[in-house]
Amino acid sequence: MKPNSLKGQQGRARNLKAHIVNRNLIVVSSTTTPTANHVVTVEYDKQGVIHTRCTCIWAMNGNIGCAHSVAALEALAAKRGRALSFWETKADARRQKHRTFYLAGKRGDEGLWITSRRGL
Ligand SMILES: [Zn+2]
Repeated sequence: MKPNSLKGQQGRARNLKAHIVNRNLIVVSSTTTPTANHVVTVEYDKQGVIHTRCTCIWAMNGNIGCAHSVAALEALAAKRGRALSFWETKADARRQKHRTFYLAGKRGDEGLWITSRRGL
């Protein structure tokens, strides 16, 4: 499953603090529990395919695109002067004419598309 609103998820992600340990490991503050963190791991496949894991319930139930994963990917992008947008379909992503990544879904579900542009 994917988030209902990708824009909403990006908005939530913006309020989270992401601490990059390395390009594969990011610690992100919890949305629901101010005293807790979630750990996001990111794996990079060939051809721009990204796999994320998170310790939150949403991710543990086999869903992708939790606010923590979004915050983690955005923090990694920001470090390289890039900003991300998330899309439901490949066609939406392609229309942006920016570098495109695919966030792979779990259990055969469809994933999400990500475009990367130069940040501000
Ligand atoms: Zn999460």
